[in-house]
Amino acid sequence: MTATPAAPPTTTDDVVLEAENLTKHFPVRRGLRDLFTKERKAVHAVDDIQLTLRRGRVTALVGESGSGKSTVARLMAQLYKRTDGDIRLHGDLITVNGGRAFRAYCRRVQMIFQDPFASLNPVHTVRYHLTRALKIHGRAGNGSADLEQNLNALLLRVQLTPPERYLDKFPHELSGGQRQRVSIARALGANPEVLLADEPVSMLDVSIRLGVLNLLRDLKERLDLAILYITHDIASARYFADETLVMYAGRMVEGGDSETVTQNPAHPYTRLLIESAPDPDRLDRVGDAKDAPEDEAGGEPPSLIAPPTGCRFHPRCVHAMPKCSTDLPPRFELPLVDSGQAHWAACWLYEEGAAK
Ligand code: SF4
Repeated sequence: MTATPAAPPTTTDDVVLEAENLTKHFPVRRGLRDLFTKERKAVHAVDDIQLTLRRGRVTALVGESGSGKSTVARLMAQLYKRTDGDIRLHGDLITVNGGRAFRAYCRRVQMIFQDPFASLNPVHTVRYHLTRALKIHGRAGNGSADLEQNLNALLLRVQLTPPERYLDKFPHELSGGQRQRVSIARALGANPEVLLADEPVSMLDVSIRLGVLNLLRDLKERLDLAILYITHDIASARYFADETLVMYAGRMVEGGDSETVTQNPAHPYTRLLIESAPDPDRLDRVGDAKDAPEDEAGGEPPSLIAPPTGCRFHPRCVHAMPKCSTDLPPRFELPLVDSGQAHWAACWLYEEGAAK
């Protein structure tokens, strides 16, 4: 196995949005005690992220709460200023500081938030939300007949039918799933190329999650959208995403096609994530030593104000070696499984000659 440099894949025709060495540190407010030191503390929320979103593909970004995945989505949406790194749209470097440039960027890159109730204004109807999106992005058409036709088309696209039943409803009159569909329709009002979906189903009832994921998959195929799917549920990534990337404590630790990452996880943290998901078959095998979880010693995610040196997972890793606490592991390419797609892990276990 060979170490690869941290560079993203070469830009090809189907690449829409890329992040290169994306980094975000949030400064911590100085307390009284800190006034006498020169030290400036910061939360290292995201460090050195490489991400490529392609037309007609879903990329899942998986990790536990606080791993930095939502920060990545907000950086890609230009809602946060980045500390370092580049974002490229169709190969062009993008830096947006609000105003007209931000609106032009939003026309191509839209975000869907976790809580559809919070993202819709409770005093306005579905018609108001969608009309506003169409007008801001110059897609309302000429006159009220055009507008009505475009509103109906948006609701039909998110499978809220018949549209006239929903147009004049307020958010509180809709179910959670219907509200999230309205949020998706509003995002589609811009006719975007990229959807950044931040935990789009985690606040919905289990029974309607699948419907919303199927809708997003249908939109991906029909509109050729590039979708970033942020989730803590690695099982849904296998179902929905073409590619899966795993984040831990602000860094990416594993990536590859979803089937390979979820069925043949390489990084100890990915294995821990999968083993932490409820599985009735595993409960039957409790006590079987070979099924002992990766995280036998337990442990919590580290503080991101002073993250662990070397591999950030080393305080929790049952395979940790001396160099894990001092040296940051690069990405190691792994042997291809059936899919033939690249698979990598940032873990010293995969260095040439390392004992597994
Ligand atoms: Fe564990 Fe070391 Fe691999 Fe980190 S680099 S996951 S500590 S074995």
